Amino acid sequence: MITLKEALKLNKEDLNKFKEDLKAKIEADSELNAYIDVNNVGDGVPIAIKDNIQVKDWSVTSGSNILQGYISPYNATVIEKMLSAGLSAFGRTNMDEFAMGSTTESSFYGKTLNPRNRDCVPGGSSGGSAAAVAAGLAIAALGSDTGGSIRQPAAFCGIVGMKPTYGRVSRYGLGAYASSLDQIGPMTQNVEDAAILYDIISGHDEKDSTSANMNDKVSDKLDASRKLRVAVLPKHIENASDEVKKAYAQAIEALKASGHEIVEKELMDAKFDISAYYITATAEATTNLARYDGIRYGNRVDGKNLEDTFIQTRSNGFGDEVKRRILLGNFVLSSGYYEAYYVKAQKVRHIIKDEYVKIFEDVDLILSPIAPGTAPKFGELKNPMDMYLSDLYSISVNLAGLPALSLPICNAQNGMPVGLQLIAKAYDEQTLFDGALSLEKKLGYKA
Ligand code: GLN
Repeated sequence: MITLKEALKLNKEDLNKFKEDLKAKIEADSELNAYIDVNNVGDGVPIAIKDNIQVKDWSVTSGSNILQGYISPYNATVIEKMLSAGLSAFGRTNMDEFAMGSTTESSFYGKTLNPRNRDCVPGGSSGGSAAAVAAGLAIAALGSDTGGSIRQPAAFCGIVGMKPTYGRVSRYGLGAYASSLDQIGPMTQNVEDAAILYDIISGHDEKDSTSANMNDKVSDKLDASRKLRVAVLPKHIENASDEVKKAYAQAIEALKASGHEIVEKELMDAKFDISAYYITATAEATTNLARYDGIRYGNRVDGKNLEDTFIQTRSNGFGDEVKRRILLGNFVLSSGYYEAYYVKAQKVRHIIKDEYVKIFEDVDLILSPIAPGTAPKFGELKNPMDMYLSDLYSISVNLAGLPALSLPICNAQNGMPVGLQLIAKAYDEQTLFDGALSLEKKLGYKA
């Protein structure tokens, strides 16, 4: 598959031909279920769009039954930016319902397969975007990351996935899961493409009150020769599988060989991250999903009266995982439990943030696993708790609002890719991309 950088140089005729071929390829591999709809808006280079990002006059469903029939009345800011930069929105990719999940199995449209081994999950929630890029069915894609949903599927499918600093990319037009954690970001075949796409979608937006008033760009200044101080986390990686530990050692060697300095640091036990994240995320999700009542958006199931219509619509429209989280979110916000759970989670969130700030006083980047192992087989994560616990390496980054990029390091013995992530301090995307590019060059892993 051609890269985004190459595709941006195609003339109109070649580009149209490319898009026709791409459509045919996607249709020929419908079994993968990476896309839930193939359509195109705009004349430019085709970028696959996760099904929770609004493209005007297109259906957008966040992988849910409750939004069947809903048509976007406007473009998300990232789509406006893409269209004016010579890109087009091409196809909607499958995802866990409302981005809740780590495997893309909770989608109303059924599961997406991992193109590297179709018995394995592609990761989630942006599993459709990752599978599309990894299978050569997209040049690049947009995903969203609330607690790892860009970085983890990227790692499971062997591609690059980047989560920007909170506030760098406008959330206007992104279907909200947990508003204080969500960020849209690029999923690409290589680091340079991720930088190019990040530059296109990032920047200040007055339509998003949490948008940072910053517009600096990275791709023209990419510099893989900078020598950086990189923190490694010997204690943190103890919970990872042997293959992840091996990849971690390999990445450290590659960083050293490129002249970077390695420093050992520690983070607190990730069990606190998981508790703080699942309390915060479900509390915000409960609030965000309250709007889906059958009156204003999408699907409605008529009941005996208004209240019954709400109940029927929501009971019928939401899947099990979403309902579980609505229950959990209401519980942690309810009077009597609010202080014990929600307020405490916010305190833990502060501690996590401070811990990172302290580490970044001394280093430029942190090298961390993104998932405890390679992509699990379908059905391997048997209960929701197993799935939540598997997020141990991804979610503190969102709680702290930091930028992070996951890139493939090597293949495990079973042939599945192993990805790791680099984490930078807030707003230091330049260093993040520079370090990632250096590592990518040294490792020579090709998606
Ligand atoms: N797996 C995490 C969750 O289910 C993260 C999902 C995401 O980043 N959207 O909440």
